[in-house]
Amino acid sequence: MSTNRRNFLQSSAIMTAAAAIGSSFTNLKAEEQPAHSDTPNTVKAIHQLPVLPYSIDGLEPYIDSKTLEIHHDKHHAAYVAGLNKAEDEIAKARAKNDYSILDYWTKKASFHGAGHFLHSLYWVSMTPKSGSKPQDVLMKKISEDFGNFDTFKNQFTAAAKSVEGSGWALLTSNFEGKLQIFQVEKHENLTTWNVVPIIACDVWEHAYYLKYQNKRPDYILAWWNIVDWESAEKRYLDLMAKK
Ligand code: FE
Repeated sequence: MSTNRRNFLQSSAIMTAAAAIGSSFTNLKAEEQPAHSDTPNTVKAIHQLPVLPYSIDGLEPYIDSKTLEIHHDKHHAAYVAGLNKAEDEIAKARAKNDYSILDYWTKKASFHGAGHFLHSLYWVSMTPKSGSKPQDVLMKKISEDFGNFDTFKNQFTAAAKSVEGSGWALLTSNFEGKLQIFQVEKHENLTTWNVVPIIACDVWEHAYYLKYQNKRPDYILAWWNIVDWESAEKRYLDLMAKK
């Protein structure tokens, strides 16, 4: 195993995933500035809400403007604030050498950090100009790993529909390029470590309730019309280029 790959595997799942597909988030990550502080143990608010890559009505009629606005401006913003707060509290604990409530803030960092990362991926998993199916390399890999596109779509849909409570359905790639589908509860539970998400479908009620009420299957059916297969393939190719 190469040194690069070993280091890659040793990183935390969220940060590994973020680094692996960072180039696909270029327009989003541009707003995230490194911390500049006179006190090394104090973390400033380094994580920022990414800008949506389309207009607020850009995903109509599949996702309505009001849902998109609240989802991005309120819910995602809260995860960004929560992550910054958790990192700040962990830095304070480090500065005071007092780790008595470290477990609390570590869990908060995991929840809000995963929420921030997955929402950032969710926005770029969708586009107003979707092709109905992936092309080229990604299509070939989907056929190889799932049999054919329809079988993949059926499994992903079933996974998204059956997430218990709030969570996500993810199409992921492991470091060998094998595609897999995972369910996630909340933002950070039930997935695995050695994979990078390529596509994320948010099935928290806040993603669909205004338009679809309790009919999550109708939202998922609509969501397929706006999947950004082009950017998904780019994320996959970027990951494979790092092997
Ligand atoms: Fe959400």
